This record gives sequence, structure tokens and C-alpha cells, in this order.
Amino acid sequence: MTTVYLKPHKEESLKRFHPWVFSGAIARVELDAKHQSDAPEEGEIVAVYSASKEPLGVGHWQIGSIAVRILAFGVEELPKDFWVERIRAAYKVRQTLGLANVQGTKENNTFRLVHGEGDFLPGLIVDVYAETAVIQAHSVGMHVSRKEIAEAILAEVPQVKNIYYKSDDTLPFKAPIEGEKTGWIKVQNDDVQCTKDEFWSIENGLQFRIDWLRGQKTGFFIDQRENRALVERYAKDKDVLNMFCYTGGFSLYALRGGAKSVDSVDVSQKAIDLVNINVAKNFPEATNHKAVAADAFEYLSKQKSEGRTFDLIILDPPAFAKHRDAVKNALRGYQRINAKAIEMIRPGGILFTFSCSQAVDKEAFRLAVFSAAAQVGRKVRILHQLHQPQDHPINIYHPEGEYLKGLVLYVE
Ligand code: SAH
Repeated sequence: MTTVYLKPHKEESLKRFHPWVFSGAIARVELDAKHQSDAPEEGEIVAVYSASKEPLGVGHWQIGSIAVRILAFGVEELPKDFWVERIRAAYKVRQTLGLANVQGTKENNTFRLVHGEGDFLPGLIVDVYAETAVIQAHSVGMHVSRKEIAEAILAEVPQVKNIYYKSDDTLPFKAPIEGEKTGWIKVQNDDVQCTKDEFWSIENGLQFRIDWLRGQKTGFFIDQRENRALVERYAKDKDVLNMFCYTGGFSLYALRGGAKSVDSVDVSQKAIDLVNINVAKNFPEATNHKAVAADAFEYLSKQKSEGRTFDLIILDPPAFAKHRDAVKNALRGYQRINAKAIEMIRPGGILFTFSCSQAVDKEAFRLAVFSAAAQVGRKVRILHQLHQPQDHPINIYHPEGEYLKGLVLYVE
């Protein structure tokens, strides 16, 4: 196996179980005999040692500033049954959470099985929708290991019969990738392939059509499950505006909560088509829902010019900062969109506002929302501080894993 030696004193973070080895920490790399090139191959498993040759762990080699993502600490090779054991441990957490009970799938059969570093599997996401697991690789190493991962899921998670692989948007752009980045790895239930346009998953008793072939992420934003349930509690008799609605998650909960009206807005027409399908499936009689394909900023300006106001607005934009360099602009974006929303809330109304940018921390986001409130000059109080749900756990040694934050504001 290829071995990586760190510079003196660069082993500290690995000893504290932080899973990344930065390229600047590496003193030298000794390639094993198989190599024709003069560097490890992206995705290959390497062993990492301190300057004094102490074994620190094994992980996937990557090209870029993070050179190795550690899979197992303190060992010199990947333990036998590594994937099965990790998937078993991840599944156990979801059982503890009451999300993955085979018998109890009538109310909820949608959950995240693997959340990257949060499940000690850096670079891997697995979401479960009823009988289908969707695997998403964010590193070449996970791509290389995808079939073993699929086998481990089928062995350990009884409700999963089919495995879809969807990594065309998440693998490093320039990496040499062998094999397909998207497609079925395993189909044990033939119905799934032929009914892919008719596939439904259940979240808290609501049915959602999941389009994992063309949809965003793995097909759905499972991370808002609990925050959507909170909207349901506040929705009664309210005029609700759901901005960045995607397939209408928050809208369905608002309708079930007894909202007077719900407007759903997203820039993607495909998303809007799915919102309409989801509303029709869950509330076939509803006449109080409207879905519009529009840019959020333009839409809010237009509504304001027409004098429209709402009792409850949800703002769940895509990550405005995809990396550190973009944070300043992102904060301006958050301030702008929040100011526009706060302006349109009736006195005594509520704003649910979110950021899923990992690079924007809780304090920075709160400051952007504070600036928005001050800019508009409304009296605003924080009712709830929200975050990602338990099936998106944060590895305590990898605080970067905390990405979703939200505020529920009472606006006078
Ligand atoms: N709230 C959703 C998830 C939102 S994801 C849920 O509960 O499932 C962010 C969404 O913002 C995506 O659907 C994307 O299409 C949409 N989007 C991106 N830019 C936008 C813009 N400028 N205006 C409106 N929608 C936008």
C-alpha cells in the first residue's frame, strides 16, 4: 500500500480524529510497487504515518488541498468488513432515532442513512426513499468503492431493495473517473425502474414524488423534515409564502396545518411541476395553493410593488456561498433577501429563514438577518433557532459538518 509520512507535529489533528490530511502537512509519499506514475492515484487507499512512523490511519487519496480523507484511525490497513460495519453503525443510529423502523414505514420511509463525516464516511451520502437507497459520492475514493458500499447497504438495511447511484454533479470535475457516474447499481424490485416517474416516498405521512434521475441532490431535501413540521404548527389560517420551494416540502405541511392560502415559488419550472403533482396527490380538493416559476428576488419586488403582504414567509435559498471566498457576497445576498421578506410580513407575522451554506456560520448568518431587520426598521424577535436534523449528525471532531441553520422570527 502507498504510504504517506507527515511533517513533524502535523499529526495532532488526526489524533483528535479530524478526518482530513492537508497536502501542506505531508513530508513525503512512498508509492507501492504497482505504480507507474510518480504520485498516488486519486481514490486509492493509502496509509498515513507521523514523522516518527506512528500509524495514524488509512484513507482515500485526493488531488487538491485535502490530500487524504481518513476512513479508519490508528490502523495500517482498512479493517476487513469495514463497509459493512460502518453502514451497520449508521443504520443503528437511524433506528435509535425511530426513522428506520421496518414496520413503521407508513408514516415515514424517507431518511438519510449516511451523512459523510457525520457517519465517519467522508465523501459519502446515502439517502433512503422507501425501498430505494440513493448513493452520492463526493470523492473519487467513494466512487471507486461504490459497489462494496451498495453490497453493504443491501446486507444491513432490510427495507432497501434497490440502489441508485447519482454522482454526476458531485464528483471532482477534473478527476479521471472510471465507470458510470449515474445509474442503477442494483434492482431487486423491478417495479422501481418502470415506475420511476411515479415513485413516491413518505415523510411524516405526506407523500412526495421523488425524481432521483433528474431531481436536485439525491431527489429531495431530507434535511428540512423537522423544520417543515414546525411550519405546520404555525400555519393555521395564515397566508403563507414558500420561497425556494423546490418540490413543495414546506407548502404541503402548511396546507396540512390549515393555512388559508399557500404560494410556492421556485426558479425551476421542473420543481414547480413537481409541487403541483405533490399538492394534487396529498390535497386533491385544495383550491388555496398556487405555484409560480420565478426568480425569488424579482418575485418579491413585484409582490411588494403590488402591495401584497403575508402572515408567514419561508426563505430556504440554495447555498449562496459554496466556498470561503464567496462568504462576503453570500452575506449580502442573505441580507437582501431577508430584508425583502421582512418588509412583506404583516404585523405579528412570522419568518422562517435558512442558510445551508457551510462556509457561513451561525453568527454570520444571524448578523446578516439582524442587518436586514435593522434596514427595514421592524421590531423582530427570535422564536426558534433551527438546524439540521439528527439523521444529518455532526461529528464532534469535524465541526465543519454543521451546515444548515435557521431562524424563526416574530415580526411586529
Ligand atoms: N425548501 C426546499 C428546498 C430548497 S433548495 C424543500 O423543502 O425541499 C433551493 C431551491 O432554490 C432549489 O429548488 C432551486 O431551484 C431554487 N432556486 C435557486 N435559485 C433561485 C432563485 N434565484 N429564485 C428562486 N428559486 C431559486
